[in-house]
Amino acid sequence: MFKALILIDQDFIKDSVDLIEAATRLAGSQEATIWGLGINLTEQLKGFDTQLHVELPPEQLKDSRVITDILEQVQQEYAFDSILILATDFGRMVAPRLAMRLKAGLVADITEIEVEGQERRLIRPAFSGNMLASIVCESTPIMVSVHPNVFHAAELTKAPEMLHFPLEKMKASSIEVLASAEHEASYDIRDAQVLVAAGAGFKAPMDKLQRLAEQLNGSVAVSKPVVEQRNAPREIQVGQSGKTVSPELYLALGIYGSMQHIEGLKNVSDIISVNIDAGAPMNYLANLVVVGDAATFVEKLNTRLKEVLK
Ligand SMILES: Cc1cc2nc3c(=O)[nH]c(=O)nc-3n(C[C@H](O)[C@H](O)[C@H](O)COP(=O)(O)OP(=O)(O)OC[C@H]3O[C@@H](n4cnc5c(N)ncnc54)[C@H](O)[C@@H]3O)c2cc1C
Repeated sequence: MFKALILIDQDFIKDSVDLIEAATRLAGSQEATIWGLGINLTEQLKGFDTQLHVELPPEQLKDSRVITDILEQVQQEYAFDSILILATDFGRMVAPRLAMRLKAGLVADITEIEVEGQERRLIRPAFSGNMLASIVCESTPIMVSVHPNVFHAAELTKAPEMLHFPLEKMKASSIEVLASAEHEASYDIRDAQVLVAAGAGFKAPMDKLQRLAEQLNGSVAVSKPVVEQRNAPREIQVGQSGKTVSPELYLALGIYGSMQHIEGLKNVSDIISVNIDAGAPMNYLANLVVVGDAATFVEKLNTRLKEVLK
């Protein structure tokens, strides 16, 4: 029996449940039992065999040291063969800490799993995404972090057994709450069916892009340099260090098509690339290529759509 534990991230519940598919693949031909660890989560999530429930003071939920303590205690109690954590900003703080405590290897940001007999190969981008590394983890538990939206669980119907996990010997949290504010609701580019994405070659104000996105019932996304130039928040960055998206239509405006950017495109139905360079790698992925200035293209399309959709 292959026992896997998934840390359920409150902010990414669907993506956490999708890790069931990664855990199932990791089990290979072995029978799998897949547990979820929910902290302050009373909702029963279909798909897990067992869902562990832990109660914490709410202000400690984002304390990666506290969450690491909990995972360590859970692992000591149940001895899982593998622990899977989403590679979100928070997951990236927890996973290496836990790996250190458990003296286990961590394979971060995996994008594929191959199992042959007893050998489990974890695939992840290496050398800035220019190569794929195939890593065999020989320590136990096999610890992996997985980018959201890479694995997708089929429709899950099984209701988990709910178990309360009592905490022992918790260290004091290092977080002191000085003030609190409501999180501004914003969109998630992973939900969009149409994405209009600006790269460094899009040389116009971002509100022009916002207008186009609204006319197409879509959302705005960007490449990394646009975030680095502080023209957009990191939440809307596509790629290896951003989000993985699967829209029906991806409009790439002045995007070169680096490996790290392309890594964020999974199961995209159609890509339109607008670039002044006909040889840009993005054009080879695209169904339709427009060779020209991206800002002019957006301007003209905005005007034309306004006429058509009047
Ligand atoms: C560890 C690591 C992680 C990374 N993670 C990410 C990530 O998550 N996401 C990401 O995007 N990148 C990421 N990068 C950066 C990545 O390597 C590229 O540098 C980046 O994707 C390039 O963005 P770009 O295509 O917008 O810009 P550029 O490479 O500068 O390309 C601009 C493109 O616009 C075209 N262009 C120029 N002017 C115009 C114009 N007027 N009209 C139309 N086209 C024009 C150019 O021909 C070119 O093709 C990462 C890099 C590293 C090392």
